[in-house]
Amino acid sequence: MFATRFAPSPTGYLHVGHAFSAWTAFDAAQAAQGRFILRIEDTDQTRCRPEFEAAIYEDLAWLGLTWERPVRRQSDHMADYEAALERLKALGVLYRCFKTRKELMEAIASAPHSFSGPEPVSPLAEDEEAQLLQSGKPYAWRLSLARSAGLLGAHWDSLGFEANGHWVKAHPAHLGDIVLARKEFPSSYHLASVLDDARQGITHVIRGEDLAEAAHIHVVLQKLLGLPTPIYHHHRLILDADGKRFAKRNQSVTLRSLRESGTSPAEIRTSLGL
Ligand code: GLU
Repeated sequence: MFATRFAPSPTGYLHVGHAFSAWTAFDAAQAAQGRFILRIEDTDQTRCRPEFEAAIYEDLAWLGLTWERPVRRQSDHMADYEAALERLKALGVLYRCFKTRKELMEAIASAPHSFSGPEPVSPLAEDEEAQLLQSGKPYAWRLSLARSAGLLGAHWDSLGFEANGHWVKAHPAHLGDIVLARKEFPSSYHLASVLDDARQGITHVIRGEDLAEAAHIHVVLQKLLGLPTPIYHHHRLILDADGKRFAKRNQSVTLRSLRESGTSPAEIRTSLGL
């Protein structure tokens, strides 16, 4: 059965870009007589806040959306993501990276929306790693694309997914060896999102085109973990008056500020061309 989701992170109030994304997914589910799922992606406990989660429910209900209950909140399932991480470790596709906390938090917590290209990292020599481990220096786990390719063998070259009606060949090397976890941050967006899409039976991932690159690494995680690959649809982004992508910092265009100023959901829909 067709199932899609809207998966916001409660790090700020929703804006018109979110409304577009949520409606695009909701409308697709309605058209297919399928399921619409709301998921709260709050693995980054340093940035997520309960009041933003409460506001998500309120704002989406105001838009006229309905969704399945109970809502899956990722922070309730950290053990699940850790178990998947253990499986990847057992497969031998992860390696430790001892970059500083600051460097790593940027790599792991930064919105998945901005990719700055692969970082030049690789596994350390065994003795060097042993030394750092012994010194107690904290580390993160990175997914080795080279080892993943080795493990997946002949499947590696045919890795791909359907996006916007076309078959796309995966090019995970554009993203490089991404950080999947570290001690105080047991799951990156990538791992939690891929696992939950499978757990929740998502057949169609509908989201902004700023996340199109992420699919190239998600398909690798799906293959390694034996999960199905959904069909992707990456929709256009809604831009602000300066031609920039709406971000949570554009507080003037939050759905709640529009509501308070008397704008109706129907007017927002029309302005978004829906
Ligand atoms: N949680 C992500 C966000 O806040 C969306 C993830 C996804 O749709 O795959 O934008």
